[in-house]
Amino acid sequence: MKKYSEMTKDELKAEYEIIKAGFEEAKAKGLKLNMARGLPSAEQLDMEADFFNTLNPTVDFHSELGIDCRNYGELTGIHEARQLMADMMEVSPEEIIVFGNSSLNIMFDTVARSMQFGVLGSTPWNKLDKVKFLCPVPGYDRHFAITELFGIEMINIPMDDNGPDMDMVEKYVNSDPAVKGIWCVPKYSNPTGVTYSDEVVRRFANLKPAAEDFRIYWDNAYTIHHLYNGKEDILLEILAECKKAGNPNMVWKFCSTSKVTFPGSGIAALAASEENLADVKRILTIQTIGHDKLNQLRHVRYFKNIEGMHEHMKKHADIIRPKFELVISILERDLAPLNIGSWTHPNGGYFVSFDAPTGCAKRIVGLCKEAGVTLTGAGATFPYKKDPNDSNIRIAPTFPPIQELEQALNIFTLCVRLAAAEQILDEK
Ligand code: PLP
Repeated sequence: MKKYSEMTKDELKAEYEIIKAGFEEAKAKGLKLNMARGLPSAEQLDMEADFFNTLNPTVDFHSELGIDCRNYGELTGIHEARQLMADMMEVSPEEIIVFGNSSLNIMFDTVARSMQFGVLGSTPWNKLDKVKFLCPVPGYDRHFAITELFGIEMINIPMDDNGPDMDMVEKYVNSDPAVKGIWCVPKYSNPTGVTYSDEVVRRFANLKPAAEDFRIYWDNAYTIHHLYNGKEDILLEILAECKKAGNPNMVWKFCSTSKVTFPGSGIAALAASEENLADVKRILTIQTIGHDKLNQLRHVRYFKNIEGMHEHMKKHADIIRPKFELVISILERDLAPLNIGSWTHPNGGYFVSFDAPTGCAKRIVGLCKEAGVTLTGAGATFPYKKDPNDSNIRIAPTFPPIQELEQALNIFTLCVRLAAAEQILDEK
């Protein structure tokens, strides 16, 4: 098949009529398919049935150190849960606070605390004229929503296969004291699947921020979420690198078991230097008398240790890998020969990132909607929902059953072809 860019106007018109007929046929089926959010499928959640047997009225509710987990207390989490999350986050248990069910919640609170109370004695951000965050793009919409809510100005930083453009990051962070943070998903990034290279991590650790209260928001949500056994990405551990560089307080690390056990019912943790954590505890002690220790106990008893978690993640991978491979094979089959768009081939995480021809993303998402396929909104992967190229679309393959995913992808590629053909015809 000829590439669209090489077709004459008449050839492309003929192609357009064929795709349009296919689109109308798909529309008439009245399908309702969803590829919008990165959720585990019911099949993944069903695996966890035994999880609930770890706590029942006949078991001992005491932690290893004799804490009755049914009662108040243990603000930073029970010892064995701190150990488990420390192993997951590759730090020591003293550098961990186990919170509630959501890492996003910890991120929100971390920004809120900085706004209201400042960071380690610095001026609260809400007393400053201007606060800025760097936002590697495409990125995670909910990060951007937090900083937007607090009126923090967001600056796009382009990503490549190694991570964010570090020349730009260094320029902003090292020269502008209004830059207080950067959002990072350093492993199997949402949505590109990129894992930051060692050089990028080291350049992060060696930043010389103009602001003493600048922090890297290191959201390692997909740290153990590999798709392939034996083809795991490896990420350099940032807290140790920051210590080596003499910047031990420069990073907040976030993580949770949302996509290990249950979204909304996992355990989440913050990792940071002990000095940073002491500052957090000062406020946390007023905010709560302790998080859900029964859930912490459940997690520890279910997995036993980090090896148990890794074994468990292989079962998740076995369920979702075929879905990723299906998505990529349909994109390759339908779009690669036409040279339309580009897409990622992640080794882990929850997304495939698709870049449509410039100016086509909104149209594609709209066409998909007409044909019954819901996608993450075009622009969602950028601050203020503004993709300057109107190009990026996040594909979330995990939730739908594989047959539905196939139907949805067939419609998606049809809509991409339709939008691309329309655009070229308009220009001819
Ligand atoms: N961080 C990233 C990068 C995510 O993709 C998600 C969920 O999709 C979250 C955080 C949410 O994590 P949690 O459930 O721990 O709040």
